[in-house]
Amino acid sequence: MSRTNLLWLQAGSCSGDTMSLLCADDPSWPELVSQYNLDIIWQPSLSSRPVSALLQDVDAILADEKSLNILCIEGSLALGPNNTGMFDTINNRPKAFMIKELADKADYVVAVGTCSAYGGVPASPPNPTECTGMQSFKGAAKGLLDEHWVSNKGLPVINISGCPVHPNVIIQTITSLLEGYPPELNALNQPKEHYSTMVHQGCTRNEYHEYDIEEDEFGKEGCLFYNLGCQGPYTMATCNSQLWNKQSSKTRAGVPCIGCVSPDFPRNAPLFKTDKVGDIPVSLPLGVSRARYMAYKDLANDAAPVRIIERRVKP
Ligand code: SF4
Repeated sequence: MSRTNLLWLQAGSCSGDTMSLLCADDPSWPELVSQYNLDIIWQPSLSSRPVSALLQDVDAILADEKSLNILCIEGSLALGPNNTGMFDTINNRPKAFMIKELADKADYVVAVGTCSAYGGVPASPPNPTECTGMQSFKGAAKGLLDEHWVSNKGLPVINISGCPVHPNVIIQTITSLLEGYPPELNALNQPKEHYSTMVHQGCTRNEYHEYDIEEDEFGKEGCLFYNLGCQGPYTMATCNSQLWNKQSSKTRAGVPCIGCVSPDFPRNAPLFKTDKVGDIPVSLPLGVSRARYMAYKDLANDAAPVRIIERRVKP
């Protein structure tokens, strides 16, 4: 019986998702590979084979001489200049178009990280390299693959976004494919299991948020929403429920969530400042009525318990 194989290619990437993968410990990447007898055709930080051997395998897959079960893509796809893809090549072959051909041969395609899922940092304005995501550009069509594209097994590109994506999300997504139970996807083609709860849920600063104890500097104890641009109340990710290194997250360390799993990341605005009209943030926590927000803030402020009231930032 043939072994399940996996090909991991990097396009326009900082390697952050590979670094994240190497931090996985529940199980670790070597444990997963061994448990499922996974055949890794190539992984840029783990393969010792020469690039010529990788290209031989790529050509065999494209010629239908070799199967491809799981294709993982890390990094943004550079289509420039002028849709030639020549800004990012491998052996003088445009990587983006090689990846597009490979996707058509794969059982499953996984976009690992926000750059591959939606374009991410390299696709930010003015985007001189014409970067885009695998099947989405900042949440809209115009990805490398068209919006109706599906893999051999009938799934769109599975977007496990994050900058970087949490190691457990990579491992658990690949495990579900190896087990033959592909993840259920939401409207952004992310596995629902990992992208259905807000970063705000599970944040240790929730009590401060409730009682309007807001910080204006990093590293202190209060909530980071009102002054420091925290995106936790509208970012769907598991950062505060599956902790990083099993012990921390941005908000636990006193740094605002910057919404790195979101299609529009990085948002075209200062990352550590809350945009407001008057005293009211432009974006309110999901489901909160704009008309009632200030009334709620005033009431919460008055109701703050003495034990945390000294934490309030003085104007
Ligand atoms: S710091 Fe951010 S995630 Fe934490 S309670 Fe405040 S708004 Fe929510």
